[in-house]
Amino acid sequence: MLDLTASALARKIQAGEVSSREAAEAANRRVEEVEDRVNAFITPTPEIALERAGRVDDRARNGGLRPWEGVPLVVKDVLSTKGVRTTCGSKILEDFTPLYDASALANFGEDLVMVGKANMDEFAMGSSTENSAYGPTRNPWDLGRVPGGSSGGSAAAVAAGEGWWGLGTDTGGSVRQPAALCGIVGLKPTYGRVSRRGLIAFGSSLDCIGPMTRDVRDAALLLQAIAGHDPLDSTSASVDVPDYLTDLEGGVSGLRIGVVKELMDERIDAGVREVVGRVVGELEEAGAEVGEASLPHAYYALEAYYIIAPAEISSNLARFDGVRFGLREQADGVHEMYRKTREKGFGDEAKRRIMLGTYALSSGYYDAYYAQAQKVRTRMIRDFREALSRYDVLVSPTAPSVAFEIGAKTDDPLAMYLQDICAVPASLAGIPAISVPGGLSDGLPVGVQLMSDHFTEPMLLRAARSAEQVSDFEFSPRP
Ligand code: GLN
Repeated sequence: MLDLTASALARKIQAGEVSSREAAEAANRRVEEVEDRVNAFITPTPEIALERAGRVDDRARNGGLRPWEGVPLVVKDVLSTKGVRTTCGSKILEDFTPLYDASALANFGEDLVMVGKANMDEFAMGSSTENSAYGPTRNPWDLGRVPGGSSGGSAAAVAAGEGWWGLGTDTGGSVRQPAALCGIVGLKPTYGRVSRRGLIAFGSSLDCIGPMTRDVRDAALLLQAIAGHDPLDSTSASVDVPDYLTDLEGGVSGLRIGVVKELMDERIDAGVREVVGRVVGELEEAGAEVGEASLPHAYYALEAYYIIAPAEISSNLARFDGVRFGLREQADGVHEMYRKTREKGFGDEAKRRIMLGTYALSSGYYDAYYAQAQKVRTRMIRDFREALSRYDVLVSPTAPSVAFEIGAKTDDPLAMYLQDICAVPASLAGIPAISVPGGLSDGLPVGVQLMSDHFTEPMLLRAARSAEQVSDFEFSPRP
């Protein structure tokens, strides 16, 4: 059972060949087996998984399960879950229990078979899951290395077979980069495709919830479950949800694929470039028309992102004041109470971003930093519009390197931020982007990123499906 994709397991559950409860038991056993090494979860929820799986099985007897139901899911701890504590990887929310489920989970009803709440960088800030207040997650491919971040817990759990699929969030790469480093598929949908209600905000103009899965079919099925308009999120799009599975096997014949030259330069490790080049070559063999694409402002995307994202988080984190949510330190007077609570509750990276963001938004600096960054964002959007008028799909590496060693970048925030150079352009433009495993370099997985225009996920998934079929990679749980 552990080697099946989520879709294959779902079919067996529908057909009554396997029960959801058996699947939940298998996931729970696997969690017990590997968690002391991997640390993918902040809060495992084995009883919840069993109880809800039992209810799914009861309903399955009458038929009518929705196609994604009953398959144990890993949920990043930034998504609100009713009655289950949701920490965001932070001390400040150590005892916070939400009163409702994130809207993205609504299509699972009351019976979401949740294996647990996955580890993450604090408030989703980071690229290695080392910024968690609950200890780092380890990469199942090499326990001395990071799983990427910030959704490193979800990525590692899926790679280790502690659940068949997972949900992460992507503000500037946090679904795609950990997926790449752990050898799984990670999809950041179009901004607004999935409701953000109940997702604890990082960068509100960037945040997207996305599937982290064993293969592209699983990503399509999980997107089907979470996509849709939500009247309770004014930024969610009222665009019909297509069937993401019908065109999946259509292949790439005649598809125009552009390789982004600015994201294939010497900043990217040679071994990574080689894997991406090989996959693109195979896609050409399979009938795609391949050329070179250019996104000139991709060189400035990282700088713009690291102004806009901290600006938004400095504002979003203001709500954690010791009054309304989570931790409160006792003190004389309200200002002293705020100060002590935030001093104790936030980790170093949260404090760094609050300072950077507050600075960039303050009078006298706003025009020089925040307004400039927004202009770069507009240029980035125009670059994509131009490139996507010539190509259907753009391709690049997902990350500049394979998984690095734990501790290698913790003393150097800039080195950590540079992990995101390939991921942030799509985030700034709000377009969908997916990472699929393309092969190995030095024995570690390399992700290939595919990007396309707003709301063209069906085509993107079809291209990604072909990419995974031509790639040199087969999923199997580790360690
Ligand atoms: N690594 C990026 C950051 O630290 C992206 C994080 C994310 O997408 N949540 O901001």
